Amino acid sequence: MVVGEMVQETELVVVGAGPGGYTAALRAAELGIQIVLVEARPFLGGVCLHEGCIPSKALLHAAEVIKEAKLASTFGLHFGDPKIDLNQLRNWKEGVTNKLAAGIVGMCKSAKVETMVGKAIFQDSTSLRVDKEGESSVRLKFKHAIIATGSRPVKLTKLFKKADDSKSSRILDSTSALTIEKIPQNLLIVGGGYIGLEMGTVYAALGSAVTVVEMTDGLLPGVDLDLVKPLANHLQTVFKQILLSTTVVSLEDVGDGVQCVFAGGEGSPKTAKFDRVLIAVGRQPNSDGLGLESTQVQLNEHGFVKIDQYCRTTDKRIYAIGDVSGQPMLAHRAMRQGQVVAEVIAGNPAAFDNRAIPAVVFTEPEIAWCGLTELEAKAKNEKIGVAKFPWSASGRAMTLAEPIGQTKIIYAPESQLILGMGVVGARAGELIAEGVLAIESGAVLEDLLVTIHPHPTLSETIAEAVAVARRREERASRSQVIKD
Ligand SMILES: Cc1cc2nc3c(=O)[nH]c(=O)nc-3n(C[C@H](O)[C@H](O)[C@H](O)COP(=O)(O)OP(=O)(O)OC[C@H]3O[C@@H](n4cnc5c(N)ncnc54)[C@H](O)[C@@H]3O)c2cc1C
Repeated sequence: MVVGEMVQETELVVVGAGPGGYTAALRAAELGIQIVLVEARPFLGGVCLHEGCIPSKALLHAAEVIKEAKLASTFGLHFGDPKIDLNQLRNWKEGVTNKLAAGIVGMCKSAKVETMVGKAIFQDSTSLRVDKEGESSVRLKFKHAIIATGSRPVKLTKLFKKADDSKSSRILDSTSALTIEKIPQNLLIVGGGYIGLEMGTVYAALGSAVTVVEMTDGLLPGVDLDLVKPLANHLQTVFKQILLSTTVVSLEDVGDGVQCVFAGGEGSPKTAKFDRVLIAVGRQPNSDGLGLESTQVQLNEHGFVKIDQYCRTTDKRIYAIGDVSGQPMLAHRAMRQGQVVAEVIAGNPAAFDNRAIPAVVFTEPEIAWCGLTELEAKAKNEKIGVAKFPWSASGRAMTLAEPIGQTKIIYAPESQLILGMGVVGARAGELIAEGVLAIESGAVLEDLLVTIHPHPTLSETIAEAVAVARRREERASRSQVIKD
């Protein structure tokens, strides 16, 4: 024990106040567990609220309004070019974040969750030290602990020509890109995953000439190609260029820009200069510097904390949830795990056994999917039925002037069980919840077909996709009867 260190005992300590940590803390408090929520930064909400989901979606909303205003000219409404006041845009985005952060503080207060600002470092399997800036540290002795320390952007420092480049204000990560300090004339985005494409959509709408470089041969690696294609086609028209099968070899801040050297990619330039470069190649878990070596907690080869379906680590008193515990690194997975782990600690029957974790890419058009994808089924050699409904036949899509889109259902041909759903088009992220509920509740095709979907809405495309499957099955059984 350090001299001057205070000692405090608690039933449960949660390390990290992101969506995983604060959800676990609130649920645990509701269940009557005495708890301390430790957060290294002087605000609650984590990456999701301050550098992730919420600020990015606020900026994407601004991008959408710009797009809608342009689109309106096709039906006779002419708005002219937008005048962009970056200060006001930034203030509005921060206002959204601050209001939500204040809401979490209020919820913690009324649930009697004690919050403590400081960096937690485990001392052993039953205690951790909280280092507070300018104050003496606190040793917290706990019965249970939850690691919810999240993740941070991968830096790719090996690409930087000079050590100084790593500190260059021209080289951004998703956190600095979200501050929209300036609208660069030319922006290179390294990585064609969801964060890169969402940020590219924002900057392109604000006026940057955006280039995306992706090392694989397509955008959004791992997502079904028929969902990605409409987005890729659209992005070809709003981005300056998309360089596929191309890698960045080096990045150098040359004073008036960042000189980039590329390799591979038919037709890709060998070198080019950009005002700013955003590195969006993924995130890594915050499992280092936590003192986990003083506990029995084990990490996997990628640095994620190993957990079981009860979110238990290999140390029986310590649990882990959210980004630090593995893929998919999404806020709603962290929140669900937060609820599960609180129940488990309270001794209630609960497990993180969800069948479907939805994923949404908030681009224009949006892409959303849940459950089994076609790519996964192919990899597993699993026999599936796929039914698709194009939005060009949707009344609602036409009235919104958004006819680019498709809804598809993936199902088991024998049992007719819904196994997966994929949507590309406006508001796909809102529609996917029906697919998640269908999978979780073991729905079959018929259940979606007989459910009345309000007209005219995009949700009708779900029932329409099922109707496509039914027509196909009926045709197949009629031709079987004829053969017989
Ligand atoms: C640009 C961007 C957009 C995103 N958009 C979406 C989206 O649309 N939908 C979605 O679902 N997900 C999105 N995500 C991912 C989402 O933000 C994360 O999955 C989510 O924040 C993970 O929650 P968490 O609770 O695991 O950790 P985090 O939100 O990372 O919070 C962890 C907290 O732990 C604290 N901490 C770390 N170490 C310590 C320590 N030693 N002591 C005390 N505190 C500590 C950190 O300060 C942080 O506040 C996005 C991410 C980014 C970067």
